[in-house]
Amino acid sequence: MQYSCVFFNTGSIINYIFTQSVSEKSDKAAKFFPNAFGPDCRKDQKDNTILSFRDTRCPFIFKVQILLYQGMIRFRTEGIYCEAGNFYIDPWKPVDMALITHGHADHARWGMKRYLCHEYTVPILQSRISPDIKVQGLTYNNPITINGVKVSFHPAGHIIGSAQIRLEYKGKVVVISGDYKVQDDGLSTSFEPIRCHEFVSESTFGLPIYNWLSVEEYNRQLQDWVLKNQSIGKTSVFIGYSLGKAQRIMKALEGVDKLHVHYAIGKLNQAYESVGIKLPEYHTIDLREDVKYLDKGIVILPPSLADTNVINKIPNRATAICSGWMQVRGARRWRSADAGFAISDHADWNGLLQAVRATQAEQVYITHGQTAVFTKYLNENGIAAQEVETAFGTEDEEEDTNNKLSTEE
Ligand SMILES: [Zn+2]
Ligand SMILES: [Zn+2]
Repeated sequence: MQYSCVFFNTGSIINYIFTQSVSEKSDKAAKFFPNAFGPDCRKDQKDNTILSFRDTRCPFIFKVQILLYQGMIRFRTEGIYCEAGNFYIDPWKPVDMALITHGHADHARWGMKRYLCHEYTVPILQSRISPDIKVQGLTYNNPITINGVKVSFHPAGHIIGSAQIRLEYKGKVVVISGDYKVQDDGLSTSFEPIRCHEFVSESTFGLPIYNWLSVEEYNRQLQDWVLKNQSIGKTSVFIGYSLGKAQRIMKALEGVDKLHVHYAIGKLNQAYESVGIKLPEYHTIDLREDVKYLDKGIVILPPSLADTNVINKIPNRATAICSGWMQVRGARRWRSADAGFAISDHADWNGLLQAVRATQAEQVYITHGQTAVFTKYLNENGIAAQEVETAFGTEDEEEDTNNKLSTEE
C-alpha cells in the first residue's frame, strides 16, 4: 500500500517525507529507531493513522510520530471517502454527497443530501429511496470534475446501470467497482476493465469453488426446465432477486411462454422502462388474488416470498432458485426447492481474478464477501491486497428482507 508518510517528532529535530509500503512501516521505523518501543497506533480527527514510537537513544527525540496519509480514498465510518473531492462512494451513513455505484440496497442508502449515479440508476433510487431525493444521473465514460477530482462512471456488468467509479486526481487513478461481474448477461452494459493505481473490489464469491457456466448454458437450462415442467403439467416458479436477477430470468425465457412477474419486480421493471430500457414482455401478478390461471405457466417471484404461504396458491408448482449460492451442494435442499441454478450477478472466482489483474493496480482493497481468502490469495500471488471493513454485502442479492439465502455473505 502506498502512503505518503510524514515523520515528525515532538522536538522537531527530524522531519522526513517519503512514500513507503505499509507492510514495511514497522520495519523501517524499527531500523530508524532501533531503540524504539513498539508503535502504538491511533487515528486523529481526520481519520489519519498515526503511529507513535518512543526512542530511548536520544534525549531530544522522546517521541516520534508517523502520520500515514492514505492516498486518494479513505475508509471512514460513514463510507469510502475521497478527501480531495469531499464526497463519498456508496456511503452507509448519511452524508452530503454520495456517488452511487448501483441501486442495490446495501450500496444505495437513504439519507444522503445529494446523489450522483448512472442515469439508469436514477429511477431505481427514486423508486427504492424516495421520489424526492436530489439526484443527478451521468452516462458511462462521461467525466465531470468535482472539487478538482475527475470523476467518471464505467460499466460494471452487475445489473442495469451498475457502474465502477473512476477517480483521477494529481495523476493518481482509483477505481471503486461496487459489485461487478465480467460475464455479459445481455442486459447490463458489459464490464469494462480500467487501469488504475488502486482498485476497490468485492469478493462475494471469492472462493475457487465458484465457477459459473456461460450465460447461454444457463439460459438453455432454464428453458429446458420450463418445457419439462409443462410436459408434466407443472407451473414453473423462479425465485430471483427483483433487481437484476428477475430481469435476467425474463430475458432467458423470452419467447418460451408468457412471463408472469410479482408486482415488486414489475415496479422495478417500470423504473427501467421509464428510461427507455427494453425488457421482454411480461404480466404483473398479485398473489392476493386468484391465480389459478397461472397453471403450467412461468412465474418469477422475489426471494422474500419463497418461504411464505402465498406461494402455495400457485397450482402444481415446481420451484427453482436462481442464485450463485446454488453452486454449493445442499443449498437447494435446505431451501426445499425443486431446482437450483447457480446464476449470479457477481463475478465468480476466475472473474474476480481476471478483473483485478486487468486493472494492474498496485494496491487492491477487498470490501465484502470472502475477503480473507481472496485477499490472502492475491497477496500470495504478488498483488498487494488488503481487507477493509465496509457495510456492504448485507442486503445485496437478497431483497430488502432478511433473507436466509445470503447469510453466508
Ligand atoms: Zn454488494
Ligand atoms: Zn449489488
